[in-house]
Amino acid sequence: MSHSNLSTYEDVVAAAERLRGYAHRTPVMRSRLLDAELGAQLFFKCETLQRIGAFKFRGAFNALSKFDEHQRRAGVVAFSSGNHAQAVALSAQLLGMPATIVMPQDAPPNKIAATRGYGANVVIYDRYTEDREAIGRKLAQEQGMTLIPPYDHPDVIAGQGTAVKELIEEVGELDALFVSLGGGGLLSGSALSARALSPKCKVYGCEPEAGNDGQRSFREGRIIHIETPKTIADGAQTQHLGEHTFPIIRRDVDDVITASDAELVEGMRSFAATMKLMVEPTGCLGLAVARQLKSQLRGQRVGIVISGGNVSLDRFCSLLAGG
Ligand SMILES: *Cc1c(COP(=O)(O)O)cnc(C)c1O
Repeated sequence: MSHSNLSTYEDVVAAAERLRGYAHRTPVMRSRLLDAELGAQLFFKCETLQRIGAFKFRGAFNALSKFDEHQRRAGVVAFSSGNHAQAVALSAQLLGMPATIVMPQDAPPNKIAATRGYGANVVIYDRYTEDREAIGRKLAQEQGMTLIPPYDHPDVIAGQGTAVKELIEEVGELDALFVSLGGGGLLSGSALSARALSPKCKVYGCEPEAGNDGQRSFREGRIIHIETPKTIADGAQTQHLGEHTFPIIRRDVDDVITASDAELVEGMRSFAATMKLMVEPTGCLGLAVARQLKSQLRGQRVGIVISGGNVSLDRFCSLLAGG
């Protein structure tokens, strides 16, 4: 594996310039109740309020805005049933290029509709009999489209890093930072910003207990592959870290810690009750892990990235009701 093209903090700075005027500078929220509970000063970076309802707009827009003329004409292809699909579709629409999104036939109808709503061409595949990567590659080859993966790409990583750049620039240096972890685009980009702007800050990746491949990979020093994990954290149902994300995580992250689905539901309840925020399960990973580390956070300045809020009202209610 060659690391010569690993993203750097300079790439995050360049991404922030490209995103200016397109991405929202999301608010940093505080909660006296949660500060009192943890005995710390908590700073929540609210990517639930980012365009498309999650940080993924940052990485997708940064990657697409680097396309040359030829790539813009042919357009972009992505495979995703989640937030990356909408991020690529909206970015392509804003930049005036065609987008094709490959989605499983059992993707939530509202997500397919939202993606089409941004003007993307949605190609449906059968999750059980077809290989989405093969379909994506075929489209890319035959029609000259550029494939943008959800996390394992230097421009995606650099874009995701802009959220924590904004956070630290706004509130100052931190003692600890908690970031949701799926394939590691958000975590690796966040770690680049934290190392540059708050060098002594401890950076924690927070992943669902059922899919602890990131924790095992971090601790064993190699990328571990697992089956698609069963968890309510659908934004983090990844099977492995990426070739581009893993080396940065190994170098710049302090530990990876897991949270149970029950802890994520507690987080959803807390965010709704105390901060009036509707957060999707994956967006609650940071708070859930910070709660576990309460005894060592006493008196500290703690950043928590709330990564997204895309959960239907029905699912939100049924999760809180224990269903
Ligand atoms: C994609 C996603 C994640 C995980 O991000 P990675 O870059 O894959 O680690 C976390 N939270 C939400 C809301 C997401 O959409």
